Amino acid sequence: MPTGIYKRTKSSWNKGKYLYGYPTRSLQWRREQKQAKRDLITILKSNPCTDCHESFPLDCMEFDHVNENKFKDISDMVSQGHSMKALLLELEKCELVCANCHRVRTRNRGFYNAV
Ligand SMILES: [Zn+2]
Repeated sequence: MPTGIYKRTKSSWNKGKYLYGYPTRSLQWRREQKQAKRDLITILKSNPCTDCHESFPLDCMEFDHVNENKFKDISDMVSQGHSMKALLLELEKCELVCANCHRVRTRNRGFYNAV
């Protein structure tokens, strides 16, 4: 497997499979990194909601971007393999809220009208 910076290849047999070139790290390393990010998210999401101060199951907790320059959703960053550093920078722009409070916040910002 080639090493170094991600290289874009022109051969057609792996077109689409390696859209951004060959991965430079081993599959095990990438799996460990993803697990570390998931563990971090699990710990952060075990805190109570910022708005209503209630505690909910982890899947009811969401990261709300309070900073204007949002890069990406936190869950997308974990699943798409962004670095831990990038993830931490993105988390700094967020507040932890429950799903209900997140909807209320988003509505108050005028993003959508419910019903
Ligand atoms: Zn809440």
